[in-house]
Amino acid sequence: MIALVDCNNFYVSCERVFQPRLEGKPVGVMSNNDGCVVARSAEIKSLGVAMGMPAHQIDPHIRRQCILLSSNYALYGDMSRRVTDVLSQHTPHVDVYSIDESFLSFEGFEPETLTDRCQVMRRQVKRDTGIPVSVGLSTSKTLAKLANHRAKKESIFDGVAIMDPGSEDTRGYLQQLPVNEIWGVAGRSAARLHTLGIETAWQLREASPKHLRKHFSVVMERLVYELRGVDCIPLDDMAQPKKQIMVSRSFGRLTQNKTDLQEAVRVHAARAGEKLRKQAGLAQAIMVFVRTNRFRQDLPSHSKNVVIPLPHATCDSRDLIRAASAGLEQIFKEGIWYQKAGIMLMDLCDHDNEQLGLLAEPMSDEKRERNEKLMATLDKLNREHGKNTVRLGIPRKVNAWELRCEHRTPRYTTKWDELPNAIL
Ligand SMILES: [Mg+2]
Repeated sequence: MIALVDCNNFYVSCERVFQPRLEGKPVGVMSNNDGCVVARSAEIKSLGVAMGMPAHQIDPHIRRQCILLSSNYALYGDMSRRVTDVLSQHTPHVDVYSIDESFLSFEGFEPETLTDRCQVMRRQVKRDTGIPVSVGLSTSKTLAKLANHRAKKESIFDGVAIMDPGSEDTRGYLQQLPVNEIWGVAGRSAARLHTLGIETAWQLREASPKHLRKHFSVVMERLVYELRGVDCIPLDDMAQPKKQIMVSRSFGRLTQNKTDLQEAVRVHAARAGEKLRKQAGLAQAIMVFVRTNRFRQDLPSHSKNVVIPLPHATCDSRDLIRAASAGLEQIFKEGIWYQKAGIMLMDLCDHDNEQLGLLAEPMSDEKRERNEKLMATLDKLNREHGKNTVRLGIPRKVNAWELRCEHRTPRYTTKWDELPNAIL
């Protein structure tokens, strides 16, 4: 079973932990330079303040009732780490998906015990961190996401909803769910599904996977299986929330080597930059984190986050790598066995409505154009000739962060330097 744990109104909840007077009030958190509302409490939502709304466009009458705060990414980053720490006490398999969402695998646990187990976990997160979370359980990530949505909306679940892919209840839910409300079905593919007569999640689930693969891609085919309860979309391929981009990976083996961490952080930052450019976004802050394996109680633990604000909104991998590397310097500690490193791009904005900070120096058009061209070329090469055809920096051959493959035989047929040797 898979659980999706999602923090409720995360940024606002973080603020409320330290300012209980904000409880029950219409609270919003604004993006960098106090531009747009990027997080909202339930109360401010019901006043009609929309997500992404520029703060100055809020009706003055409503504006007076609201409490609008500047974003405090260092706080959110650290609270996120605390929530993850509690989750990791309940299963060794926690995959952080965004600043306020994690996928947990409960493989090997008794399915009947999971609702209770997750209730205990949810209460512990609240008790130890102050953050309210909702939990959705099912056998695939897509269904777990839908279950999570129900856990939030339908009070009968008390914060933990389970969706059995074979149940009548699930069927009823999918039958009334418009297909565009499924994770990863964007406007355009929804419209194309409509032309094939597929309007609800249930109709998509019942469609022929092969047929959909032909009309769309393997992604849509997998989605059909996901709706049937088969977990087949790797986390990295899940539609990312637009507001952050996260790239992390466990090392193949634990490592103490600083160079391993530096390289992992560099590669993750470059990959995140690629994703960012794909969605035509700019990031204004980057979070770097490192984790130890908390189940190795014989080793010292050291899990740290740091948020580095970027001097100007950027999608240039070189800026991201520079900031990420500086972040790593701040949290790296010698003599620790690390399990994982990652980065998260935060406070994203669109390329078109970038806001300049008061102190930011605008880049010359010429320089900007040159940088954009360089990144576009980099992306094109990597897209057409395979991931990592061109990398920034100097990756080494042997590094712990690559997937574990100590027991792999040489790649006889695909790597020139691993060809079988005929000379005796
Ligand atoms: Mg959330």
